[in-house]
Amino acid sequence: MSESNVIVSNEPWKKPLPNIDKDNEQFYEGLKKHKFLVWRCKTCGASYWPKAYCINHENEPFAANMEWVEASGRGKIFAFNRHHMAFHPGFKDEVPYVYALIELDEGPLVSSTLVGAKMPKDVYDVGQKVEVVYEDHPAEGFTLPRFRIVD
Ligand SMILES: [Zn+2]
Repeated sequence: MSESNVIVSNEPWKKPLPNIDKDNEQFYEGLKKHKFLVWRCKTCGASYWPKAYCINHENEPFAANMEWVEASGRGKIFAFNRHHMAFHPGFKDEVPYVYALIELDEGPLVSSTLVGAKMPKDVYDVGQKVEVVYEDHPAEGFTLPRFRIVD
């Protein structure tokens, strides 16, 4: 993936901090290395995010059956919403912004805000292809995933 898929933000972070816990800390470690990790079932290859038992193999022991793998970072817009008001003061400089539900090529749904010049406008933009952009916050020491529309 090219360096254009990385944004370095030196703006002080004023929004809620990401909720990093033992179930997702490897995901955030992956983001720092500019890898988008998902859980994968070793038995059937189905992908999951966030952490979940495979629906086809829910009787398998989790640790033995599920592993982190790098996803493509590509997907499509499943749904989106344009926000004209900030629900948190940290977002007020960015309104309007587009919050989207992304269906990864591997299957899981993830939510994030969209970045880039192209933004979805109406219902016909559902299904537009997107790719992940890694937003590094060096001062705070974390990386967040954003998505942008690809041509
Ligand atoms: Zn499975």
